Order: sequence, then structure tokens, then C-alpha cells
Amino acid sequence: MSELNPMATAPYAQNARPFLYGGELEGIAEVLASGQYGHGDVTEQFERALADFLGVDDVMAVASGTAALHIALTVAGIGPGDEVIVPSMTFCATVQAILACGAHPRFAEVDPATLCLRPRDVMDALTPRTRAVLPVLYGGRAVDLSDIREALDEREIVVVEDAAHAFGSYRGTARVGSTGDALTCFSFGPIKTLTCGQGGALVPRNPGQATRARRMRLLGMAESPAERARHITYHVEGFGLRAHLSQINAVIGLAQLKHFPALEAQRKELWRAYAEALDDATGVHLVDVDVERSVPTLCAVRVPERDQVFTALRDQGIGVGTHYPPNHLQDAFRRWRRPLLITEQIGNEILTLPFHQMMTTDDVRFVAKAVREVLR
Ligand SMILES: *Cc1c(COP(=O)(O)O)cnc(C)c1O
Repeated sequence: MSELNPMATAPYAQNARPFLYGGELEGIAEVLASGQYGHGDVTEQFERALADFLGVDDVMAVASGTAALHIALTVAGIGPGDEVIVPSMTFCATVQAILACGAHPRFAEVDPATLCLRPRDVMDALTPRTRAVLPVLYGGRAVDLSDIREALDEREIVVVEDAAHAFGSYRGTARVGSTGDALTCFSFGPIKTLTCGQGGALVPRNPGQATRARRMRLLGMAESPAERARHITYHVEGFGLRAHLSQINAVIGLAQLKHFPALEAQRKELWRAYAEALDDATGVHLVDVDVERSVPTLCAVRVPERDQVFTALRDQGIGVGTHYPPNHLQDAFRRWRRPLLITEQIGNEILTLPFHQMMTTDDVRFVAKAVREVLR
């Protein structure tokens, strides 16, 4: 067991990790005792809690953030041969979700200060085959494409946002997911700010999308699990995945959501502590997450000689990471490779610092000091 005991090492040894607020274990025990492990009342309670939190009519819980993206792209009409503009600077899951639809990624550049897609990056990447744009809300920062909304509408290009990092963040005065101009996808994976152990959600934009998405997450069956329990037969109406959210996972999310204000306050505090402790540190560029409006998922910096810095910090037991190796340079995605000089440079410089709720601001200052010393 000792290897599984996170307290055996300092919090800063881990780049990211879940945090239990209380209620998760009791919830899991209740679900286990209930004998209902599939999609059920608890999953739907979690969906309603998410909808209330975001201030939207409907949220659909699914098995992962990747499944949310796959389903969202599909119900937005993306299919074989379509092209989806996506920043290369993202987790490979974003790209795999595009391929899962039979569509192709069109890799785009990002703003080196935020690692997010700008309107002009989208316009630069546009081709006649572009059917969707998939912004990634890097670190938790909202992406605003309203400047090119008309240009996208004219071409019937839809926006599906990868908000795996941005649950609880705001764009202007609206929570991400409630802005009304994109299909929004969240992840509740093990290292996301709010976790279900594994899970995700999407916010459909209209009832038609919601119906298709509900069908697709449960093997294409028209009837809900509750209806199936009452009916003699069921009807398969289209392609589907086994991508529902288990009640075992949903109950974890429900427990976590109750503590969101504490989570939000702590993550902002930790991010601000890094910003202060690294202010004017030679060679360090902090990736700006817009902490006023965001619930940060990552604290990322760009540094020179990143590989040496990474190794030196790891040798001191500090859990640094590299989110992300650019996707357009991955072998599996080489068919869609094109030169993206800014992203390639970011890929060589990016370093993510330990960032999770087991950490204190003292841990942050310890890490920041080590970064400064390594760069000296
Ligand atoms: C975590 C993550 C995903 C995928 O979510 P899963 O729940 O792990 O499937 C997609 N995009 C980004 C940017 C992520 O960080």
C-alpha cells in the first residue's frame, strides 16, 4: 500500500492529482450497495447539478472528455472527409476525437502568451473543407471567437470547444458552457480540477443535438435506461458508443461539485502565488491563464533549455511536466503535418509546474525558488 500512499512524498512531487473533499467514499459505497452501476438516477442528478451550476437547460454526462468531444463533433454534423481546425498545442485526445468521426485535423497556431487559438489563427488555417473549429481552453482560459463569428457562420462552420481544462471558468460574465455559441465539452478525468475518477460532459446547443447525443452515448438505443426497464423491447436508431457515465463515477462528481467554491478559490490562490513568486524571474515566461475569470487547471511556463531544466527539477523530486508535445509532430498525425513555427518553439520551451489542491502556497514558493535557481 505504501507505494499508493500519496503522503509518502511531498505534494510538489506530483504534477497533478485528485483531491477528495469528503463525501466521495460514502457516495461510492451507497451506489455499490444499490446494485445500479450503469447510467441511472445518480448520473441524472449529476447532470442536473451541472446544468444548475452552469445556468443552462441541459447537460449530458458521458464516460470521458474524449467521448464528449467525439459525440459533440458527431451531433454537430462532422463526419468523414470534413476538416476540423484544432490547435496542435493540446492533449492528443482532442485530435483522436476528430479522427474518431472520420474527420481530419487542420492544425493551427496559438498565441504564445496564452497557448490559445486566436481568431487570426483560425482564419489562417481555414480551407474550403473546414466544417468545424475546435478551440482548446488551455489551462482554463476561455477562447473568444466572436470577432470571426460571422465569417464562420457564412461558411457554416460550427464551434465545438474543448473545455477539458475550463470547468467553472468564465468568458466575460458567463460560465464557459453557457455562452450559447459553441458546443462545450468538459473532462472530469483523474487530474482535472473537478473529477469523477473518469468522466466528461457536453453542453448541447439545442434539443435535437441533445436527443442525438443521448442516443449516441448509449449504443444508439432510443429508449433511456429507465424506459428500457419498463419496456419489452428497445429500438436501435443509429450508430452508438458505450459512453454513458457510471453512477459510481457520477457520485464522485456530485460530491466534488458541492465543494467547487473552495476548489476555485484555492486554485486561483495557487496560480497567483506562482505568478508572484516567478515575477521577473530571468528567462521565465508565465503562460497567462486570465486568473480573474478562470479556474486554472495548469500552471505553465516557457523556459529556455527546457529539457535540462526539466531534468534538473525532476532530479530534485519536483513533478514538472510538458503539456503538450505538439500533435502535428506526432507520427500518428504526420499526414496532417504542416510547419507551425510558434507551436514548435512552444513545444521546446513548455514546462508545467506541480499544480493541485494538495499543495500549499509554501510548496509553490519552494518550486518557484528551485526554478529560479536552475535557470541561474
Ligand atoms: C483531459 C483532456 C482531454 C480528454 O479528456 P478525458 O476525460 O481524459 O478523455 C481532452 N482535451 C484536453 C485538453 C484534456 O486535457
